Amino acid sequence: MAEKSTKNNELMEKIVSLCKRRGFIFQGSEIYGGLAGTWDYGPYGAELANNLKNIWWKRFISDREDMFGVDAAILMNPKVWEASGHVSGFSDPLVECEKCHHRFRADQLEDKIKCPDCGGKLGEERQFNMMFKTHVGATEDESSVSYLRPETAGGMFVNFKNVLDSIHPKIPFGLGQIGKAFRNEIAPRDFVFRSREFRQMEVEYFVKPENWKEAFEEWRGVVLDWCKEIGLDMNHVHELEVADEDRAHYSKRTIDFEFDYPFGRKELYGLAYRTDFDLKSHSSASGVDISYFDEETKERFIPHVIEPSLGVDRTILAVLSDSYKEEGEGDDKRVYLKFSPKVAPVKVAVFPLLKNKEILVDKAKEVYKLLKKEFGAVMFDDNGNIGKRYRRQDEIGTPWCVTVDFDTVEKDAGVTVRDRDTGEQKRMTVGEFIEFARKELSL
Ligand code: ATP
Repeated sequence: MAEKSTKNNELMEKIVSLCKRRGFIFQGSEIYGGLAGTWDYGPYGAELANNLKNIWWKRFISDREDMFGVDAAILMNPKVWEASGHVSGFSDPLVECEKCHHRFRADQLEDKIKCPDCGGKLGEERQFNMMFKTHVGATEDESSVSYLRPETAGGMFVNFKNVLDSIHPKIPFGLGQIGKAFRNEIAPRDFVFRSREFRQMEVEYFVKPENWKEAFEEWRGVVLDWCKEIGLDMNHVHELEVADEDRAHYSKRTIDFEFDYPFGRKELYGLAYRTDFDLKSHSSASGVDISYFDEETKERFIPHVIEPSLGVDRTILAVLSDSYKEEGEGDDKRVYLKFSPKVAPVKVAVFPLLKNKEILVDKAKEVYKLLKKEFGAVMFDDNGNIGKRYRRQDEIGTPWCVTVDFDTVEKDAGVTVRDRDTGEQKRMTVGEFIEFARKELSL
């Protein structure tokens, strides 16, 4: 057991170090010593995140006839968070050590008496609200208090009526959005797994009250299919039926999708049946009628809601930990990220076999430009020997490397395409490669 956990810690260290070394993820504000619970995404991290967000948007919104995207403001009228119950109840239990003053989440401590850091006495447990408070406008008093949204969901509930009045969708339908959420986590940890600023991809799906069960099942399937599409090892994804006493105040049924991260099995996503709690609360708090009129049955009712809630950053960490592979020993050792081509930040790298042969470089640039037009995320590299170039692309998970050699230019014999996972090389024309890659990328 101890051996396994050391191995897993090692894996986390390797992932964090690769992310920094190869430009995926950096500590937030690093040159100033960082800011706890914040992370900055570098060029490959940003591409990876965009690919995931685009796949989500397609699968959860644009491929469907019953889904609509929105993009609501992060700052909202504070009454939104009073009505949703976040002002009074969005808190975690906090304990502070009387000696070193380190703070901990009480529900994550095995020993609630002794400080795990210095052995000092832990103080009384109290509730700590996780919303970030700020002031909107030039006055800094109670009247100007606002919050950074702790979840994107609020922006969809308060726009339910706007969407009904503007595009007149028929129930069942849903709203979805991708955006930042902020939580002043007591103990941010495990890299981007628990941070204070993160991104969510959420759907609020509105149904007739009697139809919630089938909608719940449907979205459960959508979430699982998404996990497969982004290349997660499904043996690492587990569903947990959340017990009555552990569910959020608004939920009548919740499934947590958990993932086997290197530091243990933890929540990746949530799927909740939120009943009519949110629309009802916002209706009564705002005084605006937020109900739905069914033209067919001539009934007016408040829809019930199914919510699949996915974190972008937890997805990235799951994808990274499933993709990280090492092979060989010593000088032959190679590290590669076995990303599914769809999520890989760079799809193809193009090399001239030799850097100092103009004829090869020119041809390689021509091939590069052609592929870049086709696939966008394509790199050109002529630095160092071919072996080193392969290693660099392996570490950022590029599925294919295309090399232009003398046979390409002198015999019109196509290019060599090297596969990241097997190391196998095949000769084919550029046209054949484009066709092959388009298929792999489902374009
Ligand atoms: P946890 O119990 O781990 O704190 P939660 O149950 O509070 O999570 P939800 O409120 O259900 O999380 O949020 C929905 C999703 O948003 C989570 O499944 C996760 O993917 C993501 N998420 C929540 N909190 C964080 C965070 N601090 N950092 C990164 N992602 C987060």
